[in-house]
Amino acid sequence: MIEFESVSKTYPGPTAAVSEFSLTVPSHRTVVLVGSSGSGKSTLLRMVNRMVDPTGGRVLIDDEDVRDRDPVALRRSIGYVLQNGGLMPHWTVLDNVATVPVLTGTPKRQARLAAKELLERVGLDPAMGRRYPGQLSGGQQQRVGVARALATDPNILLMDEPFGAVDPIMRRELQEELLRLQTELHKTILFVTHDIDEAFLLGDEVVVLREGGQIAQRGTPAEILAA
Ligand code: ADP
Ligand code: ADP
Repeated sequence: MIEFESVSKTYPGPTAAVSEFSLTVPSHRTVVLVGSSGSGKSTLLRMVNRMVDPTGGRVLIDDEDVRDRDPVALRRSIGYVLQNGGLMPHWTVLDNVATVPVLTGTPKRQARLAAKELLERVGLDPAMGRRYPGQLSGGQQQRVGVARALATDPNILLMDEPFGAVDPIMRRELQEELLRLQTELHKTILFVTHDIDEAFLLGDEVVVLREGGQIAQRGTPAEILAA
């Protein structure tokens, strides 16, 4: 479970990116933050893995303040998927997926075997593990990004516009894939998008943000559509 307790973030500049935002992301659920560019979505997401620390309030994971956690250990325990995949271009696909588990103590052979299974799980031919990210399509790279995020078997997945850079048909396939994966894996997912249709499709709960991280609407897709 992730809890935002009245968090604020002010970057140098005139206005707060987020002010006094509170939200609970229940375990094993997908909560989607949706809003236009600049509404504070990424800032909120990054507070969870301490890429951003709030200037007020606090973020708890399973009742523990994330500021009591070592940032590197925290980041390794949370899956993070970004718009552009964030893959290392000079590493093979397999190394992109297997490296963090190896760094955290999984024997290399076992990590590589697990990485191949993960590639299959996200709908890729495991033989693609030998390629480099630049030799894959954008949609395939995003699948690798999801596989990499799952490689340490995290309870929490943070997804920041993960399908934003892929074409609409591929995007729909990736959305369906994530829904399917979620019925098997039951991760706690905080998902950021500016696409309201994507939010309604993927979210158990949807939080509509406007400027300054203000909550305009929140609820299940059915509740919001009925409002
Ligand atoms: P979103 O993800 O909804 O596009 P962001 O969280 O990226 O929103 O940004 C919220 C606001 O904070 C924007 O006005 C943005 O310009 C500002 N902002 C984000 N990151 C930084 C930063 N590192 N330094 C200064 N301002 C920032
Ligand atoms: P996103 O696509 O996640 O909203 P952006 O493209 O807005 O991210 O920002 C990319 C990077 O630039 C982030 O690291 C963010 O923190 C930083 N950033 C965003 N807005 C500003 C800003 N106004 N001033 C300085 N850095 C910013």
